[in-house]
Amino acid sequence: MRGKAKHEYPLTGFVVCRKCGSPLVGSCLRGNYRYYHCRGTYPTASRAKICDAHYIKADWLEEVVWDKVKSVLSQPELLLAEVSKQVENEKSHYSTGTMDKEIKELSRRLKGYDGQERRLMNVLRMDLATPDIVLDEMNLMKKEREADQVRLNGLIQAKENLAKALEMQESIKELCAKVVPCLDNCSNAEKKDAYTYLDLKVSATPEGVSIKGYLDLNVLTTGQTWA
Ligand SMILES: [Zn+2]
Repeated sequence: MRGKAKHEYPLTGFVVCRKCGSPLVGSCLRGNYRYYHCRGTYPTASRAKICDAHYIKADWLEEVVWDKVKSVLSQPELLLAEVSKQVENEKSHYSTGTMDKEIKELSRRLKGYDGQERRLMNVLRMDLATPDIVLDEMNLMKKEREADQVRLNGLIQAKENLAKALEMQESIKELCAKVVPCLDNCSNAEKKDAYTYLDLKVSATPEGVSIKGYLDLNVLTTGQTWA
């Protein structure tokens, strides 16, 4: 069992190289020492080696990251307040009833533009009006269509942001219920859950670590002493 635990790398998928941005992968040297190292430091079939970052001791990196996450999770009420604030903020940009109606209306109008264009083309073809007037009409329609599309995209984006914030709020509640009561003896699987919920993004070299996540944690730099 002990041997198995030694070869887990809970930060895989959450951590990239601070030098080149490549993912860090775990490896075990001399049978016992776990490290994370940059994928860019060795060549692949499609490219040469692109990075010379050093190996990072896994115990050190995992501890730095978990300490930071733990400090955030140890105050779940602050965390939840922050999430609620973000949800309120998104809600102020998107009022469900009226804006859903507007999305429907805009989508309907956008579908109608093709028909209008065909009608104008027919008018042109059949010589029913002077070309200048028809072309003016077409240009006007094109502008309206573009404006409608921009407005629709904006509304859809706001709707997505609100949905994302609400989803995050649920995740954070779940996380607090699950992980917070056992912060001091979390398994790697629970830590990975926490990283996923917080949308954790770590970039690291042996010289320092930056940790970002849903909470926009402050950038943290820590030096590593080599044994
Ligand atoms: Zn690298």
